[in-house]
Amino acid sequence: MGQRRLSNAQSDDLSKRPASGQPKKKSNIAALNQTSTRKGEVFRAQRRTSENVNVRASQHMIDVPVNKSIYNGYDGRQFSTAEWKRQPRTKGPVLKVMPIGGLGEMGIGKNMMAIEYDNDIIVVDCGFLFPGSDYPGINYITPDITYLLENKHKVRAWVFTHGHLDHIGAFRHIIHQLPAPVYGSKFTLAMVKRTMEEATSGYEPAYNEMDPESHERVQIGDSFNIELVRVNHSIPDATAVVIRTPMGVLVDTGDWRFEENPVDGKKFDLERLTEISAKEGILMLMNESTNCESEGTHNHGEPEIQASLGQVMEKYPSNRLIISCFSSQLHRMQGILDEAKKSGRKVAFAGYSMIQNVEVGLRTGVIKVPKDVVVKMEDIVKMPDGKVTIVCTGSQGEFNAVLNRMASGAHKHIKIKNSDVVVFSSNPIPGNEKYVVRTVDGLMREGSDVVQNGKSHLTGVGPLHLSGHGYYDDHVKLISALNPTYYMPIHGEFHMLVHNAELAEKECAIPRSNIFVCDSGDVIEITADGAKKNGRIPVGGIMYDDSGAVVSEVVLKDRIHMSQEGMFVVVLTVHKGSGRLLTSPDIISRGFIYLRDSEELMNLMRQYLKQKVQRSFGGRRPDMDQLKKELKDEITHLLYDQTRRTPIVIPVINEIGGGGGQQQGGGNRDNRQQRGNNRPATDGQVKPFAAPAAKKFPPKQVPDSDAIEPRAKADTRGY
Ligand SMILES: [Zn+2]
Ligand SMILES: [Zn+2]
Repeated sequence: MGQRRLSNAQSDDLSKRPASGQPKKKSNIAALNQTSTRKGEVFRAQRRTSENVNVRASQHMIDVPVNKSIYNGYDGRQFSTAEWKRQPRTKGPVLKVMPIGGLGEMGIGKNMMAIEYDNDIIVVDCGFLFPGSDYPGINYITPDITYLLENKHKVRAWVFTHGHLDHIGAFRHIIHQLPAPVYGSKFTLAMVKRTMEEATSGYEPAYNEMDPESHERVQIGDSFNIELVRVNHSIPDATAVVIRTPMGVLVDTGDWRFEENPVDGKKFDLERLTEISAKEGILMLMNESTNCESEGTHNHGEPEIQASLGQVMEKYPSNRLIISCFSSQLHRMQGILDEAKKSGRKVAFAGYSMIQNVEVGLRTGVIKVPKDVVVKMEDIVKMPDGKVTIVCTGSQGEFNAVLNRMASGAHKHIKIKNSDVVVFSSNPIPGNEKYVVRTVDGLMREGSDVVQNGKSHLTGVGPLHLSGHGYYDDHVKLISALNPTYYMPIHGEFHMLVHNAELAEKECAIPRSNIFVCDSGDVIEITADGAKKNGRIPVGGIMYDDSGAVVSEVVLKDRIHMSQEGMFVVVLTVHKGSGRLLTSPDIISRGFIYLRDSEELMNLMRQYLKQKVQRSFGGRRPDMDQLKKELKDEITHLLYDQTRRTPIVIPVINEIGGGGGQQQGGGNRDNRQQRGNNRPATDGQVKPFAAPAAKKFPPKQVPDSDAIEPRAKADTRGY
């Protein structure tokens, strides 16, 4: 992430200036002559701002030729793009393993892996990534599929490991561009179909359910044969994918943990993977990295969490119970339903994604609702407190989720009261700690009891959550059992990938030269002679906002720039013939300074603008583009001189009179993209207004899994 190379910002070093300095060039505008800031200084300040904006807005880009980890495939040496081009082309049949997303990104998500041989490509997973508050107004980022579009005719199948959004979220935006049949387990496909309800393309792929229990195999194109193998994870029906290729067997683990007593009784089928390893050998293992840095193994399972939830119901027999967890944690919900039945409570589900996922769970039979336990939210208000259990979204402290709305009084049916008990059956995703704290504070301010995971010493209750990903010892166990020839850590931030590689080398005796730490976009080529890293394919991301619309990088940069420095607009209305200012210049400031508190600066600005217009128009019509550029530079100079800020500056010139008004410059805020469209029609005809058809907007997407959850509790105190 953020690997775009930029020169370091230089501060203005006064000591390096010539002592006397060259005589400052006099301007014919008084305001400019009064400034004490040099042009170069303003220029450097602007460059610092734009570098800062660029760095922040390119965290989703990976464009180094190759990383320099010792597992980079070249013993830590960096290959330049030029060196690559001199490499001889690989001859003969070649199997290509290409992570398109999910490796070394700005967070965990966007998981997508393409496997190519001859005329066939299969794609495993197609998720999106939540960039968080670093990217203002961006809901999620989907993978760049340029390479696949160029090889569209080869794409034979989509395979999904499980139904979390970091694995399936981008699919609805992509499938119509790369149509091919879809494969996955029953519940996984049901989750994919649910996301497809929000697709706008109208394209429906063919879904092929595969049964991991029967070790069913499916031939894909001429080159591949796939099989799903059961794993355990924090969502039902998760699988690894075994891909048989002409070069050997590849295994993509998907997300996994080992569980002694899974809620549905379906254990991680390590036996089957071991059998494949023994009989066929495993050419390459692509193993997820999320929690490989966490020591040891899980010391509890879902049954212990269910018991803790039962304990809460027992401990507070006459209180309303509100339990918050991830919306795709359906086995947790089964536990809640069973415990509620035992203690004679009713359960209501609240929150859009929660209700949607419970419906998928019911449809596919992964959860079974005991008789007379589930009720609607509107009915639960009439019941005695001791009978009420609400299961809702908001465990990450999301502002608009049910939990926060109940605390703030914004929820339609429920307002938190001081006898309520709120259980967080989850851990905060790193980065969300402060939002969770804000929610907990809000709930406790209303007087309710809050029971959180990892605080058993305060509440006497726990454990209340279990990560969906295996820990260090679990990884050692899996890799040792499969004993692959080549090893590729996937599904992780860069540090996780490197630690996963170290673990495989140290604990499982995989030779360093057979381990590949890749960034998204790296290509691993496997031939009869072995595997090597060779080349890159284009990767990156497409950004979407809450309404499901694509947001361009320019818009993101503007947002970041504005969020830091604000914007400043001046509107000049001049007479077309004489160039006289017809009104006093309009000045608009947003997020920069409050105009009413800045009278001096405003007077200076007006004085400058009046003089500037006089000098520029003096008897002839100036080059408007040149004038706007000068206005922009000089206003920036004045503002920096007075405030040391570099807001976005937009000058607008309206020419009025002498044959109709004409607006020059960015009348609207988006002048960079819409320049040329903002001129009124000159033929004098008013075009009939055609109202756009009513649009359907998908709901905002929210994280449905603990995509990242380091075991070591982060100390969130800043002191
Ligand atoms: Zn997952
Ligand atoms: Zn995942």
